[in-house]
Amino acid sequence: MTILIPYGHQSISAEDVRAVVEVLGSDWLTQGPSIARFEELVADACQAAHAVAVSNGTAALHAAAWASGLGPGGLLWTSPITFVASANCARFVGAEVDFVDIDPMTLNMDVSALAVKLEAAERAGRLPDAVVPVHMCGVSCDMAAVHELAQRYDFTVIEDAAHALGGSYLGRPVGSCAYSEMATLSFHPVKTVTTGEGGMVLTNSEELAARLRLFRSHGITHDPAMMESPSDGPWYREMIELGYNFRMSDIQAALGASQMTRLAEFVARRNELARRYRSALEGLPVRVQTVPPGTQSAYHLFVIRVQHDDREEVFRRLLAAGIGVNVHYIPVHLQPYYRRLGFGPGDFPEAEQYYREAITLPLFPAMTDEEQGVVVSALKDVLQ
Ligand SMILES: *Cc1c(COP(=O)(O)O)cnc(C)c1O
Repeated sequence: MTILIPYGHQSISAEDVRAVVEVLGSDWLTQGPSIARFEELVADACQAAHAVAVSNGTAALHAAAWASGLGPGGLLWTSPITFVASANCARFVGAEVDFVDIDPMTLNMDVSALAVKLEAAERAGRLPDAVVPVHMCGVSCDMAAVHELAQRYDFTVIEDAAHALGGSYLGRPVGSCAYSEMATLSFHPVKTVTTGEGGMVLTNSEELAARLRLFRSHGITHDPAMMESPSDGPWYREMIELGYNFRMSDIQAALGASQMTRLAEFVARRNELARRYRSALEGLPVRVQTVPPGTQSAYHLFVIRVQHDDREEVFRRLLAAGIGVNVHYIPVHLQPYYRRLGFGPGDFPEAEQYYREAITLPLFPAMTDEEQGVVVSALKDVLQ
């Protein structure tokens, strides 16, 4: 099968290439000046105080879960409609996972379902230590409401903002952490901004930022203030925690810093294509995601819902026409690994119904109006 129009694709400019080549000729391939520059650009764009670059979005979630203090005996809740890493980050640190069903309109964690589940959890004496809202397709979850519940039930909020860099919520960019302790990003090539592989954690807490930096580099510190023993000499470093090598290279950071100069342009084009999809699909038997007032989507993905009975046929015919459709996501709790932990069909009915109907249509900044026209007419052919 030849895919003529993929569901997502990076946009690499001549300037991006120059930025990477420049690093290759410099003294620093890793842990050089590009990391700090990229971190500052993302922190500024997101209006967060601190940004810690890591090797990928999964490492960002892992680091955030660890920095929050989550560990064995702990519990993390997330949405079942997400990439598996949003849940796996709890398992990496030895904690348990549970899910909160989605709102079928926004496709995000249903905050009223969260409130109901928290009430029951309080009665049962098993409240979550951390909750990970996922900004599905680029639409921020209702973070003010999540924050209110976090205050009341005392859990850490880690936003999985992998889809939402460049989006906004109540007048502030996603990633500002106005309603959370941390927010994580991914720079995988299908995401809004890419570094090949890469991730970042945003936070307004200096203490969390220090823990994140420690975790990404073996748990080793050069800072005498963090050491447990007096220094042995100028060479002295201490490993005070069990960290990993989750560092991003300067080659990647230079690409990311160059890409960040086009963030607004990328998001504007994604929004324009989404507007065109929405008007072209009017009158067709498809449902699209609701973007609540006060929210601007970064439009990482454009998902349509069709009748369950039609989904496979529609998917196959679009694929046969060379259109790189996809499904985001198979509910995490139905993955064999999570079934072995006791989850199964029927646990989260809205997520499961969504999954039976969902198709992701191609959407990326370099997609042309003509390519979008091909997708729309193929879809009309199948559905009419
Ligand atoms: C892409 C993605 C991740 C993981 O990012 P990687 O950089 O691929 O590790 C995590 N969560 C969500 C919602 C994602 O879309």
